[in-house]
Amino acid sequence: MGTVATYGMRKAFGEVQALDGVDLEVPDGAFFVVLGPSGAGKTTTLRAIAGLERLDAGSVHLDGRDVTGETPGARDLAMVFQNYALYPRHTVFENIASPLRVRRDPAGEIAAAVDEVARLLHIERLLERRPAQLSGGEMQRVALARALVRRPHAFLMDEPLTNLDLKLRVEMRTELSRIHRRLGRTFVYVTNDQVEAMSMADQVAVLKDGKVRQVGTPAEVYERPVDRWVASFVGSPRISLLACHVDDDRLVGSQGWSLPRPRGTTAEPGRPLLLGLRAEDVSVERRGEATVEGEVFGLEPLGDHTLVDVKVGTETLTVKARPTVAGRPGERLSVTVDLDRAHLFDAGTGLALS
Ligand code: ATP
Repeated sequence: MGTVATYGMRKAFGEVQALDGVDLEVPDGAFFVVLGPSGAGKTTTLRAIAGLERLDAGSVHLDGRDVTGETPGARDLAMVFQNYALYPRHTVFENIASPLRVRRDPAGEIAAAVDEVARLLHIERLLERRPAQLSGGEMQRVALARALVRRPHAFLMDEPLTNLDLKLRVEMRTELSRIHRRLGRTFVYVTNDQVEAMSMADQVAVLKDGKVRQVGTPAEVYERPVDRWVASFVGSPRISLLACHVDDDRLVGSQGWSLPRPRGTTAEPGRPLLLGLRAEDVSVERRGEATVEGEVFGLEPLGDHTLVDVKVGTETLTVKARPTVAGRPGERLSVTVDLDRAHLFDAGTGLALS
């Protein structure tokens, strides 16, 4: 078993409330991603789980056992950081073997374990090299191998792919998913990169200002964000938000547009709202009764599609379009909205309307 749970974790550094009541329940074997912007408290969360940070309040539980007062060593967790911290004078083999040597495992078992994990990570041919003779991606694999070789209760990873170039990062995402499936162990993975979170996680916890805003599958967080902040943080390009209110059976924009009222909208007339539209849920091609007029003012060609920024009064609506139909700057066009996929938020609290 490898469940990890935290209840009401609080931690302040002077004036800064780094953790402000963090509750997490990580199921056994999950690839659980803690996603949030810089300063959200991700690293502090991970360090608290590992026992490297003393909490002001709250508790950490592994398999239901309260380990809050225990040392890092007693928790049997492996941590992988963004800087690999390999021993420069030791070979790759010795680097990977080091946690087992500390444990005084028999030499034969160590060799077998290193061999197995090296094969899993495709680094068998690097075992005799020293860290200076490795590329960044290879060093990252060795650091991972060293964490994996112990078979700990769970793996804690703090932005382990940050220092890799884009191509390697993409490769390692697939690789980490594969390794996770093979090992069937619990991963708690911290990142500020929502693409990483969306591509690898079974479950995502979105963290901001030391608080968990939302927990769910990547699809749930993307499709049903609990508030405008989560809606904006998750998804690229960023969701467009247009000020509006309900008036009878219409949704009336502050910039003069009017759309049919989305089904099931409960907001009372006149209450200030924000209409959230993702770029793929609006179109310059489809035709329907739900349209908003605007003027093209920015185009970002991205190969198979182009992002079109449409000025609607003083607000901006980003549309994902085929390159051939994206329009030209200054051109007026009519954007069709898929109202079934639209999000509505209270403009004051930012919370999604149910
Ligand atoms: P990043 O993505 O930039 O690593 P993070 O989400 O991991 O950010 P934390 O490193 O957990 O954020 O930090 C949360 C807050 O606590 C930040 O405001 C940070 O400056 C502060 N903080 C973290 N560690 C310390 C410390 N040892 N001393 C003082 N302040 C700290």
